[in-house]
Amino acid sequence: MRKKVFIVIGTRPEAIKMVPIIAQLIKNKKFFETKICITQQHKELVNSILKFFNINPDFKLNIMRDNQDLSYITYSILNKINPILKDNKPDYAIVHGDTSTTFATALSCFYNKIKLIHIEAGLRTYNLSSPYPEEFNRQVVGKIAYIHFSPTLLNKKNLVKEGVSSKLIFVTGNTVIDTIKMTLDKIKKNKTLKEKIEKYYYKFNINLNNKKIILITIHRRENFGKNLISILNAIIKITKKHPNYNLILPVHPNPNIKNIVFKYLVGFKNIYLIKPLEYHYFVYLLDKSNIVISDSGGLQEEAPFLKKPLVILRKNSERPETITIGHSIKVGSDTKKIFAVVDRLILDKKYYNKFNKKCLIYGNGTAALQIVKKLKKL
Ligand code: UDP
Repeated sequence: MRKKVFIVIGTRPEAIKMVPIIAQLIKNKKFFETKICITQQHKELVNSILKFFNINPDFKLNIMRDNQDLSYITYSILNKINPILKDNKPDYAIVHGDTSTTFATALSCFYNKIKLIHIEAGLRTYNLSSPYPEEFNRQVVGKIAYIHFSPTLLNKKNLVKEGVSSKLIFVTGNTVIDTIKMTLDKIKKNKTLKEKIEKYYYKFNINLNNKKIILITIHRRENFGKNLISILNAIIKITKKHPNYNLILPVHPNPNIKNIVFKYLVGFKNIYLIKPLEYHYFVYLLDKSNIVISDSGGLQEEAPFLKKPLVILRKNSERPETITIGHSIKVGSDTKKIFAVVDRLILDKKYYNKFNKKCLIYGNGTAALQIVKKLKKL
């Protein structure tokens, strides 16, 4: 009998990292009946990723409202997913990471006694306010999950320390590496697509082949307010000292980010403030960049895989591996520290080369294959 698998996705990073698992499950139709539900915690961002990989969701929860807060998001997902889970009675529900979608779905699975599979399990900072609310979400999901798929050995160790049986934890690498490879491969094989992406950047006068690109993303709650201003002041210092570098910032739509970024950074010749990019446009740009500055979790996996020195705008990271083995530098939001590190990366070739190496700590693109192989055996 085929196993009934129910996948729930809410945000852009979940979609990016679940795509390879969905692709594998669909390939294995003989073994799995797969249903996909999107809560639409992020709407357009998720739609574009699923469309790029030809994935059609079976359920759309449409939970987005203006100015929604965390309580509203959790309440509305719980409320809307409960009848769907009751009706579908899956053998397994699969969630990813640490979002409110992940948390609310896990809770509903717990109430409905549905076995929960957690992807990207065991990442921890052990600081409930950083990242907020993600650290809380993933710890709770870790309590509820039946099977845990962890990207690294360190993640597994965290779970074991918390009392999870090591027999229920499988280390597979991170599925995001699978997705990057699938995406770059798709672009490489499609000349028209590649030209379309390059044309998009030419529109902004960005020449992707000039090799002096600094890619920047900022979106974390703990960087709202004065931290953000401190980061933006560093960006201004960098562009003033290094006018031959193009600083590209796809601006996160959250008004706490967007309004301040535009207030501070408009008018600088070499700073390009652009809309959030569709994933394949973003990965293409990432591959062409030579330095990355970001508070993103996903980029801590993607940038080192593509040999890009990464400057992390965070105090704590649940992904310490790339810092420890020397692929990225954690600087927080301090203007002076950010500037000093980027300045050195630009001026000191030897220092730059220390970080300019491929990182395989998150695997080599076979995580989804390993996960689905294991699911077959459950
Ligand atoms: N990303 C994207 N377009 C953008 C910026 C980022 O597709 O304009 C991708 C990026 O490659 C990464 C993911 O979005 O895989 C990270 O999402 P985010 O930083 O929002 O969340 P986090 O990873 O911090 O949870």
